[in-house]
Amino acid sequence: MSDYGTLVTTMRTFHKTGATLPQAWRLEQLQTLKRLLFECQDELIEALEADLSKCMTEAKVTELAQLFAEIDYAAANLGSWMKPESVKSASWVNSFDSIQVRRDPLGVILIITPWNYPCMLTFLPLASALAAGNVVVLKPSEMSENVARVIADVIPRYFEPNVVSVVTGGVPETQALLDVRFDHISFTGSTAVGKVIMAAAAKYLTPVTLELGGKSPVIVDPTANVAAAARRIVWGRLINSGQSCIAPDYVLAHADVEAELVDAMQAAILEFYGENPAESPDFGRIINERHFDRILSLLDNPSGSDFDVVTGGPERADRESKYIPPTILRNVSPSAAVMQDEIFGPVLPVLSVNSLDEALDFIKDREKPLALYLFSTDKGVRERVLTETSSGSVCVNDTVIQHGVITLPFGGVGSSGMGAHHGKWGFDEFTHTKAVLGKGAGMEGLNAVRYPPYDDTKLGR
Ligand code: NAD
Repeated sequence: MSDYGTLVTTMRTFHKTGATLPQAWRLEQLQTLKRLLFECQDELIEALEADLSKCMTEAKVTELAQLFAEIDYAAANLGSWMKPESVKSASWVNSFDSIQVRRDPLGVILIITPWNYPCMLTFLPLASALAAGNVVVLKPSEMSENVARVIADVIPRYFEPNVVSVVTGGVPETQALLDVRFDHISFTGSTAVGKVIMAAAAKYLTPVTLELGGKSPVIVDPTANVAAAARRIVWGRLINSGQSCIAPDYVLAHADVEAELVDAMQAAILEFYGENPAESPDFGRIINERHFDRILSLLDNPSGSDFDVVTGGPERADRESKYIPPTILRNVSPSAAVMQDEIFGPVLPVLSVNSLDEALDFIKDREKPLALYLFSTDKGVRERVLTETSSGSVCVNDTVIQHGVITLPFGGVGSSGMGAHHGKWGFDEFTHTKAVLGKGAGMEGLNAVRYPPYDDTKLGR
């Protein structure tokens, strides 16, 4: 293992020179990153194929397209984001003062990322951190080993090591990194490891952004366009073979439409992936045997009372190729294993509910989700769901695509995380918002009231 302390000290020394402050420097880094992504996209796509059997279209759309959009958006808006912001005072006392908010770079940022969208989730916070005038250590996931290798290989070809460095490895390397003092840590991964990161950061009072996971529910009410809902839910659940943090995790369908929805979802699977999804070039694989075994264990149902398999199921899974078929479960018991933790695989439990109240109570009794989906055409229902629930994001009548709206904050709440990425939200996350009050040097007479000795006339009594 390398000497991470020396690496970070070298980077911090460079950062302290002020070289990263000018807009021109930051724009140059963004353009360099864009060039890297453009010139190395074939290597990255090949690595995504090797790690996750991700098809090229999916890799381009879900991993690369948003990165180009983020970089262009940051470059176009950087000037206005960096500009000191004048603020009005709420009091006449500051009538002659200048009041500003300035956004300072933080310093050396550690970005730790997962394997499920290993390009997008590594380069997207990198773009925000560089736009915000920081230098960055990247720690990609060891599980997407091919992408990690390509990242470690290409970054030094484009960036000076005191601007962006890559540390590869797993738990021991990450733990060793966490022994070093950073100015901010951005972690994307599981809630369990998020707690480890936050505990380690506490040692130095290092602020953290935690982009975590959880069970993201879908409500389908009787006014929904069921055919469209089925296609959009199935698509959101099955892209990347279900390994997406904001994938619909389970469905609460009103009893009046549940059967129709389940039928329509089966039809959507057939339409998207054919009779045998194992043969579809558009359906990915599970990252490794550990996750394959974990997902299959959720489908253990020895007494037969936890759920009914509508389509797919463990019998059609293949450990060697890490294939788990699109699987829909019905009549699911809330106490079933599949309803306890985030599924993170191509399995979708459907639970029948008799009212919106029942659906809302079900959601509110559990941890605050990263995303919540509602399929309804009733404005009253929409308003109730938006006001009565708390989640990182809500998407009405669709799934997952809120991630692509870079003017929206992307983040969780409670156990699904803290802080936000994307666009200006990401820029702000990697800066310190500094309060500045500027007073004139004269008009000292106005200050007489605040200097001792105090007496009642000074207080206006
Ligand atoms: P993970 O938490 O196992 O690993 C994430 C990173 O942490 C990896 O780089 C890994 O090397 C490191 N790590 C793992 N264990 C560690 C430990 N004990 N100490 C220090 N570092 C450690 O997550 P994962 O399996 O790679 O990703 C899946 C999870 O990430 C899911 O829960 C998913 O919902 C979540 N996720 C969230 C978002 C989001 O934006 N909110 C995006 C993608 C994935």
